[in-house]
Amino acid sequence: MTDRNDTLFDKARQVIPGGVNSPVRAFGSVGGSPRFVTSAQGATITDAAGRTYIDLVASWGPALIGHAHPQVVEVVQDAAARGLSFGAPTEGEVELAELIAGRVVSGEHRPVDRVRLVSTGTEATMTAIRLARGYTGRDLLVKFAGHYHGHSDGLLAAAGSGVATLALPGSAGVPAPIAAQTLVLPYNDLDAVQEAFAVHGDRIAAVIVEASAANMGIVAPLPGFNAALADIAHAHGALLILDEVLTGFRVHPAGFWGLQQAAGETYTPDIFTFGKVVGGGMPLAALGGRAEVMDALAPVGPVYQAGTLSGNPLSVAAGIATLNLATPEVYARVDAASSVLAHALDEALEDAGVVHAVPRAGNLFGLVFRADVPVDYAQAQDQESFRYAPFFHAMLDAGVSLPPSVFEAWFLTAAHDDEVLGRVIDALPAAARAAAG
Ligand code: PLP
Repeated sequence: MTDRNDTLFDKARQVIPGGVNSPVRAFGSVGGSPRFVTSAQGATITDAAGRTYIDLVASWGPALIGHAHPQVVEVVQDAAARGLSFGAPTEGEVELAELIAGRVVSGEHRPVDRVRLVSTGTEATMTAIRLARGYTGRDLLVKFAGHYHGHSDGLLAAAGSGVATLALPGSAGVPAPIAAQTLVLPYNDLDAVQEAFAVHGDRIAAVIVEASAANMGIVAPLPGFNAALADIAHAHGALLILDEVLTGFRVHPAGFWGLQQAAGETYTPDIFTFGKVVGGGMPLAALGGRAEVMDALAPVGPVYQAGTLSGNPLSVAAGIATLNLATPEVYARVDAASSVLAHALDEALEDAGVVHAVPRAGNLFGLVFRADVPVDYAQAQDQESFRYAPFFHAMLDAGVSLPPSVFEAWFLTAAHDDEVLGRVIDALPAAARAAAG
């Protein structure tokens, strides 16, 4: 049956490559037409055919407090009425930078003195790397296979997210000399990290790591892994860039780092990158770290970075309102909802006899069609991923919109209350049977 989504997708493909402005939206690995969204409210989205779905994508993370929260909408409308962009500093930027620095704390430990606002997570990580290179005077970068840090040239090698979904080794268009500046190591393998530093230690500017990997499905760091990365990097004069674009302000008021500090795993990244929740659904991201490193950025230091729309007043207004609304109670609610749903998912697949695991990291969780939770990209890829398409479509038919790839996290919001969760849970047994084939 053709509906308005199919018609729009046909039209879109005439004018937009693949019909989408970001590859993971294209339903490439699950088949069918993506839903063209006309509005979103709380825990739901409504598509162009007038159908409403429970949303477990949450804009790929930002919508922590639910879509179109009235207080966020109001401040954005107010900001819009005062002008869309000035190309000059605003008081709101100072307030948001202070809010970010003030939240990334653990007791007396305050690793973020300065914050630079940018527009996307890609810019945040790209700038963090340039900053690390400029600060250390070194070129090489260590990243981990299956980790996604946005789409800048040097970070696409063995990347997660859409690169993983499309099973690409990297991207065409990245010159070999640039790719050669990135050493890609297996995740959760400290021997590999030690070895890389033993060989190239005096040339490595930084290690970049997702605070918890969530773009190859959920693959949590093994206990002590992030802290050991900090130790090894620092012992060799390199920096640790902790990429909290996805996890920051979502899994804990102080991000995944905060969650780990609370659990007794103490370490100090040199640069943090933030995105998604920090902009509350508007284009906004940030990098932050100690003053000595951050002040290497222009106009104080020699590392150049800029942006016409950086610190955009509408984005800043949405970010401030969202962080202020992201109270401990919100985290408690999302944590509880995630436990309930992860457990129900596990049970439904168990009952249907499907080999699976439900990996978790804080309130993030996902689904893998293999018997145990993966610890690296090779294991994450080694699963019966063909089972996801029928599972996904059964859920969609039942009115639940999941990420259209098995390699993505499921995102909940504070608006996913018991009634909403009940409807998702009711849809799971039939989807699990569809996955069983
Ligand atoms: N870093 C991580 C960990 C991400 O998950 C993402 C996006 O999913 C990015 C960076 C890139 O952010 P953006 O899509 O805003 O460029």
